[in-house]
Amino acid sequence: SGSAASNFIREIVDDDLRTGRRDRVVTRFPPEPNGYLHIGHAKAICLNFGLARDYQGVCHLRLDDTNPTTEDVEYVEAIQRDVRWLGFDWADKQFYASDYYERLHGFAEALIRRGKAYVCSLSEEDTRKYRGSVSEAGTPSPYRDRSVEENLDLLGRMRKGEFKDGAHVVRAKIDMANPNMKMRDPPIVRIRHAHHYRTGDAWCLYPLYDFAHALSDWIEGITHSICTLEFENNRELYDWFLEALDLPNRPRQYEFARLNLTYTMMSKRKLLQLVEEKHVNGWDDPRMPTLAGMRRRGYTPESIRNLCERVGVAKTNSIVDVALLEHVVREDLNPKSPRVMCVLRPLKVVIESWPEDHVEELDAPYWPPDVGKEGSRKVPLSREIFIERDDFLESPPKDWHRLAPGREVRLRHGYVVTCTGVEKDEATGEIKALRCTHDSESRGGGGKKVKGTIHWVSARHAVEVEARLYDRLFDVEQPGSGDLRAEMNPTSLTTLRALAEPSLKAAKAGDHVQFERLGFFFVDPVDSRDGAPIFNRTVALKDTWSR
Ligand code: ATP
Ligand code: MG
Ligand code: MG
Repeated sequence: SGSAASNFIREIVDDDLRTGRRDRVVTRFPPEPNGYLHIGHAKAICLNFGLARDYQGVCHLRLDDTNPTTEDVEYVEAIQRDVRWLGFDWADKQFYASDYYERLHGFAEALIRRGKAYVCSLSEEDTRKYRGSVSEAGTPSPYRDRSVEENLDLLGRMRKGEFKDGAHVVRAKIDMANPNMKMRDPPIVRIRHAHHYRTGDAWCLYPLYDFAHALSDWIEGITHSICTLEFENNRELYDWFLEALDLPNRPRQYEFARLNLTYTMMSKRKLLQLVEEKHVNGWDDPRMPTLAGMRRRGYTPESIRNLCERVGVAKTNSIVDVALLEHVVREDLNPKSPRVMCVLRPLKVVIESWPEDHVEELDAPYWPPDVGKEGSRKVPLSREIFIERDDFLESPPKDWHRLAPGREVRLRHGYVVTCTGVEKDEATGEIKALRCTHDSESRGGGGKKVKGTIHWVSARHAVEVEARLYDRLFDVEQPGSGDLRAEMNPTSLTTLRALAEPSLKAAKAGDHVQFERLGFFFVDPVDSRDGAPIFNRTVALKDTWSR
């Protein structure tokens, strides 16, 4: 929605359009279908699709699928679903790098003919040795001066499948002494006898990233090719391919700072490890930083777009506090989530002043005044209720405004009650139930003023529901550098049998609600059944109104 704030990339685009260097904007979002998209990808999606939207251009969805052993159609479908869910549309501009294999092969041949590429037969280990280091020039490969004819012959036989993996590679012939290591005759085509999810066994040659990426951009007429800062050194190589092939209307690469969040790991490879080793329940586990996981947890596309907008687009890396993500989702859910009551850890209370079979239907607005929406439901109150175990203390501190022996508290939407007794298990000392009396003059906020208000449910009317509470998946601020298991929070998921007010029996998958004082919850779209909703806590409330 609306135009985004300016940033250095928008300034470049403005300048390109003003000076006539470009007459349109064509961007692309090029994920590799080897995993699910995560919150970091959302930043690249918002940036690329946002530019296309605001400059009346187009943004392509390109599946950058040049690694046969890691890619799958499941990931392609997940990527499509997640980009759409975030609110972006590529219309008919969906492309696959694997559709370019033949053309990329032609480009490799063209480079060979121009004397700008060769077939190298060094082992992987020798290739590494010959490359040298930043402080030391590399050594040219002994195969560097093969004739064009020999190179073309070898490439043809490579394609036919005459050689095993690693026997030869095609390398760009650039400069083995270049201070930029990326320019030291990088490999551009490798042999890989593996089944590809789209091209099957048609190819045993696969293009490498820099080569495939620059030329895919060129094939699609991309104008602004935006990637993250780690690829700064690759830009020289990107330009080299376009120059060496003498291609017109060249795209240009620009780098921006990737999104990093505290306590959040954003590497598809490591996220895959979490899934494969079953540390989480799949890619859409609500604890995962994947868009699929966040959607299932109750994050909204608006909140994620807002996060990306607030973080902005910078030229230097930084780490954003995950608290900002929690802030934007609360802000978005606040006016979208009706307030209801649910008790997560129930403690029984008998209101002894209340007539045995009497039930009162209290009128309970769904919205607080500041949200300004209409609507309410009836909440039944009877003699036996449940309150949150945490809302009672036998020996409370002085500033305790919840329930304690002799203390009074307001039942939300209902009456003020005073605690008159505590029932304990004689053997264990565990508190079994509380006894209270109520002030019949205090209904719905009337009568006396008390400091605390607590949520509750009527015992006879309550519905049992499952509540899933999530904590951070990792205990360490910047996970992903060490042993994953050691960095993980062992209590990142708590599953509870909670007691909800009766209106929640009808909650539907995908509903957002706020359990008063507990947080924003989302009805799990995968595991919920009709009449048996499961509530995922999206985020706790920053401020609770009981203190
Ligand atoms: P990962 O390291 O998580 O596997 P990747 O860059 O290898 O990510 P791709 O599928 O190639 O995964 O990413 C597609 C696009 O998303 C790339 O253009 C990349 O720059 C961008 N991207 C990936 N991670 C982030 C991030 N944390 N912040 C911003 N953009 C990102
Ligand atoms: Mg990548
Ligand atoms: Mg990666």
